[in-house]
Amino acid sequence: MTERLYYHDSFLYDFDARVVESLDHNSRAAIVLDRTAFYPTSGGQVHDLGMMVAEDKQIAVTEVADEEDGRILHFAAEALPVGTQIRGRVDAVRRRDHVQQHSGQHLISAAFIRLFNMPTVSFHMGEESCTIDLETSGLSATQAQQAEFLANEVIAEDRPVSMRFVPLEEARQLGLRKLPPKQTGDLRLINITDFDLTACGGTHVRATGQIGSILLRKAEKVKQGIRVEFVCGLRAVDTARHDYIALTEAASLYSCHIYDVPEKVRKSLAEAKNADKARHKLLEEIAALYADQMLAQTAGTPHVITQYMPDRDAVFIKLLAQKLTAGKTPVIALLGAGAGQLTLVFAQSPGQKSNMGQLMKDAMATVNGRGGGSADMAQGGLPSGGADGSMIKSLLQQAASKL
Ligand SMILES: [Zn+2]
Repeated sequence: MTERLYYHDSFLYDFDARVVESLDHNSRAAIVLDRTAFYPTSGGQVHDLGMMVAEDKQIAVTEVADEEDGRILHFAAEALPVGTQIRGRVDAVRRRDHVQQHSGQHLISAAFIRLFNMPTVSFHMGEESCTIDLETSGLSATQAQQAEFLANEVIAEDRPVSMRFVPLEEARQLGLRKLPPKQTGDLRLINITDFDLTACGGTHVRATGQIGSILLRKAEKVKQGIRVEFVCGLRAVDTARHDYIALTEAASLYSCHIYDVPEKVRKSLAEAKNADKARHKLLEEIAALYADQMLAQTAGTPHVITQYMPDRDAVFIKLLAQKLTAGKTPVIALLGAGAGQLTLVFAQSPGQKSNMGQLMKDAMATVNGRGGGSADMAQGGLPSGGADGSMIKSLLQQAASKL
């Protein structure tokens, strides 16, 4: 069993220890020490990083893992012989960040219990943000803000945070926020004075002021309840800075104050929607004009119109096909578009004997394209790369010859 120095001091970054085992763990060097201040990934908190210094060597610690038997594995860039005396150096910036996030989690979880009786069922610490899952069917924006406010008040009060070990039986009497599911021996309790008492093996602040601040982010529904994302301490500052930069960029695009960005976006979206409608209406009018012109230049029963339009897209030739086949004159329209994806549209006025869907399938089969449709209207797309206008033209000719 490795002696866990971090249990008693979350701010111990330098320590002496001796290598007691040197393992090859799936082709990675894993070192077991007699004692360690390196925190292994457990209880939602991610592992420390750092260095082991042995004589003139500096070896990076890349991961720290907790074994079921109580040993802590330090994955290192290279192995060290058993018996080596080392000096361990924990990455203090990373540890302080984890301490802020983890103590902040206890605080926000306690706030959700106190205010709304919403227990935390899981905690995850990520590289950028952390999440807790609350056992509840819903969480309003106001509730989230209230919990955030309460947690930040407790931070401002700078309440002492203490740790102690107590036997399991005694712990049961204390009304802990959370009891671990399977536990033998003494429980390690983290106490935020007059606010939260819970069992935890993690590293924590000495007083709530060290958490700095807590900022709740998005809340989303998950299988087991509501997942709340949050950031504490310097992460909260970094996140606010990041938000501000993004918002400032958006505001400068609109030449407005950052708080007016939502209103401006709403207006822009409405304008874009109206412009889209107007554009579609114009396209319909142009399609109708084209249709009239084409019909006037064609004869026969039915009129067979074969046309490739290199500068028009699929939407336009579909509109054109509708206009061509909507009138009294029986028409078969075989159209191709060259803008965007190369597209074919075959259409006929209702009640004629050809089958546009079949005609399209046959045409597509020869060029490895995809398409089909009903007897009166069919659409097909050519695979991008390799296909060009001359291919479309020849497909249109072939289809016309089969009518
Ligand atoms: Zn904890």
